[in-house]
Amino acid sequence: MNIAIDGPAGAGKSTIARKAAAKLGSVYVDTGAMYRAMALLVIREGIDPEDQEALEACAAKAEISIEYRDGEQHILLGAEDVGGLIRNEDVSRMASRISANAAVRRKLVSLQQELAKRTDVVMDGRDIGTVVLPDAEVKVYLTASSRIRAERRRKEYLDKGEEAPELSELIRDIEERDFRDMHREESPLKRAEDAVLIDSSFMTIEEVADAILSLVPGEEA
Ligand code: C5P
Repeated sequence: MNIAIDGPAGAGKSTIARKAAAKLGSVYVDTGAMYRAMALLVIREGIDPEDQEALEACAAKAEISIEYRDGEQHILLGAEDVGGLIRNEDVSRMASRISANAAVRRKLVSLQQELAKRTDVVMDGRDIGTVVLPDAEVKVYLTASSRIRAERRRKEYLDKGEEAPELSELIRDIEERDFRDMHREESPLKRAEDAVLIDSSFMTIEEVADAILSLVPGEEA
């Protein structure tokens, strides 16, 4: 029993996927974290994301893995837990750029498929329902307006006590990232034909989680 949740940045995928996984006793897999770990490596190595050859060499040697401790996903680069280093705008932007590269995608997609073979997963990303798990039993395309997604992003910064970028800057970043994710040649972000569309703009987290759980055969929301 696998659940695929795709959609643009900031639609609430990870919060909802984590909740649904806990309710179902499945493992939550955040595939964006893998692209972010790869992006961190590219930044550290000073690689130009337009240099496809260098990017492919970097993807070939990258050791990205996921470990679960106390039910939480930890993303590792080599032996280093990089979870605390990948949630910033620089890494977001770089992840969106390098994820257009076919070699990067091949590597991470096979890792994701391996995880789903071993256990029931709720997996979120951009190409889960279309490419990674085309046979997932439940597929959801979760979206929200770019303004609302930017407002949520801004609140996340403020809740952490961090300085938040201006709303207009966050909207611009989100729209640029959506455009790149939706228009790349390799596995662009799009709704799978059999995915249920949920617009979370005016829904609470609980309402979205209930809507998704109601799609799972035999589950009471
Ligand atoms: O979901 P998150 O915002 O953490 O993902 C970061 C970036 O990684 C996205 O903007 C997207 O370009 C890329 N990504 C992807 N395919 C996935 C997950 C993430 O291309 N399955």
